[in-house]
Amino acid sequence: MIVKAREILIKVFGYRSFYPMQEEIISEILNKKDCLIIMPTGGGKSLCYQIPALIFDGLTVVVSPLISLMKDQVDNLNELGIQACHLSSSVALDEYNQSKGEILSGKIKLLYSAPETLMKPHFLSFLKQVKPVFFAIDEAHCISHWGHDFRPEYRQLSRLKTFFPKAHIAALTATATKPVREDIKKSLNLTEPIDFIASFDRPNIFLDIKEKNKPFDQTLEFLSKFNNQSGIIYCFSRKQVDELYEKLYKLNYSIKPYHAGLSNDERKINQELFIKDDIQIIVATIAFGMGINKPNVRFILHYDLPKNIESYYQEIGRAGRDGMPAHCLLLYSYGDTRKIQYFIDEKEDLRQKSIALKHLKDIIKFAESKLCRRYLIIRYFGEDYRKVKCGHCDICVKSEDNIEKIDITDQTKLILETVKSTYSRFGATHITNILRGSNDKKIAQYKHANLVVYGKGKEYSKEYWQNIIKQLINQGYLFKDIDDFGIIKPGVKSDDVLRHNEKVFGLPLSEKESIKNQIADKKSMVYDEELFEELRKKRKELAYRQNVAPYIIFPDATLISMAFSYPKTYEELSKITGVGKVKLEKYGDIFLLLIKQYLLRNQQKNVKK
Ligand code: ADP
Ligand code: ZN
Repeated sequence: MIVKAREILIKVFGYRSFYPMQEEIISEILNKKDCLIIMPTGGGKSLCYQIPALIFDGLTVVVSPLISLMKDQVDNLNELGIQACHLSSSVALDEYNQSKGEILSGKIKLLYSAPETLMKPHFLSFLKQVKPVFFAIDEAHCISHWGHDFRPEYRQLSRLKTFFPKAHIAALTATATKPVREDIKKSLNLTEPIDFIASFDRPNIFLDIKEKNKPFDQTLEFLSKFNNQSGIIYCFSRKQVDELYEKLYKLNYSIKPYHAGLSNDERKINQELFIKDDIQIIVATIAFGMGINKPNVRFILHYDLPKNIESYYQEIGRAGRDGMPAHCLLLYSYGDTRKIQYFIDEKEDLRQKSIALKHLKDIIKFAESKLCRRYLIIRYFGEDYRKVKCGHCDICVKSEDNIEKIDITDQTKLILETVKSTYSRFGATHITNILRGSNDKKIAQYKHANLVVYGKGKEYSKEYWQNIIKQLINQGYLFKDIDDFGIIKPGVKSDDVLRHNEKVFGLPLSEKESIKNQIADKKSMVYDEELFEELRKKRKELAYRQNVAPYIIFPDATLISMAFSYPKTYEELSKITGVGKVKLEKYGDIFLLLIKQYLLRNQQKNVKK
């Protein structure tokens, strides 16, 4: 059956391979085992139950706390040609009845529902008729008193097993310490559950904590790095949100506020604007974010200290779901802890009070520590993180500033020779392939195996060469011609090395760096930014027409891949991540045409030059 799962992954979802653990999890779910799945945000939890749901003969029920989340998932699935619906009190009666009919007839594979809807007596008796085969409980930590987001309505789910003894259950969450994990299993009465605890590491997120001294200036400086890119600013109080919003709005930032003091409508509109890329920034209290799935959030700024590490981790987790680089900055001052202390003092339940206090102490310790941020967080969640330095947080980078550059003259010469002997007609990938002696089709086509440089750089990885090429572009030894399909040419400084024998220095690609470069290799590859912008515009237009969020059409990663490889045929397009069968049929022509026209325009530009 796992063969079938792989087939669905590729054909329906358009992905090339599973993320870590997805395959093992799916395989156990297909064996009808109860599972507890702990995976960080962006780890790909949804696929773990969506793929089995498509294979099972019968209905899968997904329990989720928020209507917006359910709607988003259902939109996403429908867009992939999968029959899914959501039922809650917000659905109009005729749509509700129609969905019920489709569920009864077996047409619907996935039903999304909130716990309070699901556990209503009349709904339970309806479901008993349908006999669901599998329940996926999303955000399962909401069932636990020990968690930071306890929801009483989740407690009712403890009776699921009594009502549906034959169905099996998968509980999923992104945040859970050991007591919470145990609590989830017990509360849901899972039978001999199999635990899957994926790494809590989110290597694409840069973790940064700075002392808060001039918070507004610090905010402006931080924002200046994210021209046009989506991000969230979290504040402790509504008042703070309003203040900051006013100030930034006056400076012409594309920004909206979000907190419990706004009307439901206002909140909904502001959230929607953000999700649809119509505004750039949301400034919010913690009330914001639970219901959003936006994959291209590029930064999170904590203007105030979060109440605990769980919330901090969950909030920063909203950045970079698409796996591309994101930056999270926390402005820390001890003064902020008093606000939280005050808030805790208000609590009446003694147990809740002492839990909250312990949580506060933990986050203070975390913020004040001089150890690697990632090391501390991951350890906090009980994972055995072996590296003492992650290389991708403020603490590690500070110590990395002192890293000595190494001599990369020989490597530079090899690359320049490759560029010259192929008449500056190829991109970074092909140059790397030549150096590594690959047997790629293109190598055969151009007979590049005959080149003197062919295979001369075998001993280094692909990441290594791509990394050096990037450094050389930055230093002016190479030139990436955006107007000419992003091909690599000798840069202004190339003669310094080739003729004047000057030495070139660069940063080594150490093991510590390899995480960063896994991402660099996949995502921040040298893509055509101009084409990317055009693709984005087209996506927005399509999304607007269908009234969905742009990422429902295609995520950024898919557009970036297109702007990297310039697909010209269906076949080439279908190989791009996120392009499944249905989307290929629906959007293939539109995007292929756009790319074709773009290339033509650029060719003409070059001829004119
Ligand atoms: P989570 O619920 O764990 O936060 P999601 O299920 O929302 O994560 O997945 C995060 C993103 O990764 C989504 O955009 C999803 O489509 C994408 N994704 C999931 N699995 C894969 C995969 N195997 N290959 C490529 N992209 C994937
Ligand atoms: Zn670190």
